[in-house]
Amino acid sequence: MKIQSTPNQVVPSVSPDLIYQDRGQLKQAIKDFLQAAAATPPVRLTCPRCGQPMRYVDTIFWLYGEERSFPIRLPQCPCAAEISELAQAAGDALSKLD
Ligand SMILES: [Zn+2]
Repeated sequence: MKIQSTPNQVVPSVSPDLIYQDRGQLKQAIKDFLQAAAATPPVRLTCPRCGQPMRYVDTIFWLYGEERSFPIRLPQCPCAAEISELAQAAGDALSKLD
Protein backbone atom coordinates (compact mmCIF):
# COMPACT_ATOMS: atom_id res chain seq x y z
CA MET A 1 0.00 0.00 0.00
CA LYS A 2 1.29 3.39 -0.92
CA ILE A 3 0.57 6.26 1.36
CA GLN A 4 0.57 9.64 -0.26
CA SER A 5 1.54 12.55 1.84
CA THR A 6 0.66 16.08 1.05
CA PRO A 7 3.34 18.50 2.11
CA ASN A 8 2.27 21.83 3.55
CA GLN A 9 -1.19 20.45 4.20
CA VAL A 10 -3.25 22.76 6.32
CA VAL A 11 -5.00 20.92 9.12
CA PRO A 12 -8.36 22.58 9.69
CA SER A 13 -9.38 23.27 13.23
CA VAL A 14 -12.03 20.79 14.25
CA SER A 15 -14.79 21.39 16.74
CA PRO A 16 -15.07 18.92 19.66
CA ASP A 17 -18.44 17.78 18.31
CA LEU A 18 -16.80 16.64 15.08
CA ILE A 19 -14.04 14.85 16.97
CA TYR A 20 -16.66 13.02 19.01
CA GLN A 21 -18.53 12.13 15.82
CA ASP A 22 -15.29 10.80 14.27
CA ARG A 23 -14.69 8.64 17.34
CA GLY A 24 -18.21 7.29 17.02
CA GLN A 25 -17.54 6.40 13.39
CA LEU A 26 -14.21 4.81 14.31
CA LYS A 27 -15.83 2.77 17.06
CA GLN A 28 -18.54 1.64 14.62
CA ALA A 29 -15.88 0.70 12.03
CA ILE A 30 -14.00 -1.36 14.64
CA LYS A 31 -17.27 -2.99 15.71
CA ASP A 32 -18.11 -3.84 12.08
CA PHE A 33 -14.63 -5.32 11.62
CA LEU A 34 -14.89 -7.45 14.79
CA GLN A 35 -18.37 -8.60 13.80
CA ALA A 36 -17.16 -9.63 10.34
CA ALA A 37 -14.06 -11.35 11.78
CA ALA A 38 -16.18 -13.27 14.31
CA ALA A 39 -18.59 -14.39 11.57
CA THR A 40 -15.86 -15.51 9.16
CA PRO A 41 -15.28 -19.27 9.33
CA PRO A 42 -11.63 -20.19 9.85
CA VAL A 43 -9.77 -21.07 6.68
CA ARG A 44 -6.71 -23.26 6.35
CA LEU A 45 -3.75 -20.94 6.26
CA THR A 46 -0.09 -21.70 5.90
CA CYS A 47 2.64 -19.50 7.29
CA PRO A 48 4.17 -17.27 4.61
CA ARG A 49 7.53 -17.49 6.40
CA CYS A 50 7.99 -21.22 7.06
CA GLY A 51 5.07 -22.87 5.22
CA GLN A 52 3.74 -24.76 8.24
CA PRO A 53 -0.04 -24.91 8.71
CA MET A 54 -1.27 -22.24 11.10
CA ARG A 55 -2.83 -23.25 14.38
CA TYR A 56 -5.67 -21.21 15.82
CA VAL A 57 -5.88 -19.48 19.15
CA ASP A 58 -9.35 -18.76 20.53
CA THR A 59 -9.59 -15.15 21.62
CA ILE A 60 -12.37 -12.87 22.73
CA PHE A 61 -12.41 -9.19 21.80
CA TRP A 62 -14.67 -6.55 23.23
CA LEU A 63 -14.96 -2.81 23.05
CA TYR A 64 -14.77 -0.80 26.22
CA GLY A 65 -18.25 0.16 27.33
CA GLU A 66 -19.95 -2.46 25.17
CA GLU A 67 -21.86 -5.49 26.40
CA ARG A 68 -21.15 -7.63 23.39
CA SER A 69 -17.98 -9.64 22.94
CA PHE A 70 -16.59 -11.12 19.73
CA PRO A 71 -15.05 -14.59 19.72
CA ILE A 72 -12.33 -14.64 17.07
CA ARG A 73 -9.88 -17.41 16.18
CA LEU A 74 -6.49 -15.90 15.46
CA PRO A 75 -4.05 -17.78 13.26
CA GLN A 76 -0.64 -18.35 14.80
CA CYS A 77 2.33 -20.21 13.41
CA PRO A 78 4.50 -22.36 15.67
CA CYS A 79 7.56 -20.51 14.30
CA ALA A 80 6.21 -17.23 15.75
CA ALA A 81 5.76 -18.94 19.13
CA GLU A 82 9.35 -20.21 18.93
CA ILE A 83 10.56 -16.67 18.23
CA SER A 84 8.61 -15.25 21.16
CA GLU A 85 9.98 -18.03 23.39
CA LEU A 86 13.50 -17.16 22.21
CA ALA A 87 12.85 -13.48 22.93
CA GLN A 88 11.53 -14.40 26.36
CA ALA A 89 14.60 -16.56 27.05
CA ALA A 90 16.90 -13.76 25.87
CA GLY A 91 15.06 -11.29 28.13
CA ASP A 92 15.37 -13.67 31.09
CA ALA A 93 19.09 -14.15 30.40
CA LEU A 94 19.62 -10.37 30.21
CA SER A 95 17.74 -9.75 33.45
CA LYS A 96 19.99 -12.27 35.23
CA LEU A 97 23.04 -10.21 34.23
CA ASP A 98 22.01 -7.36 36.54
ZN1 LIG B 1 5.89 -20.08 10.40
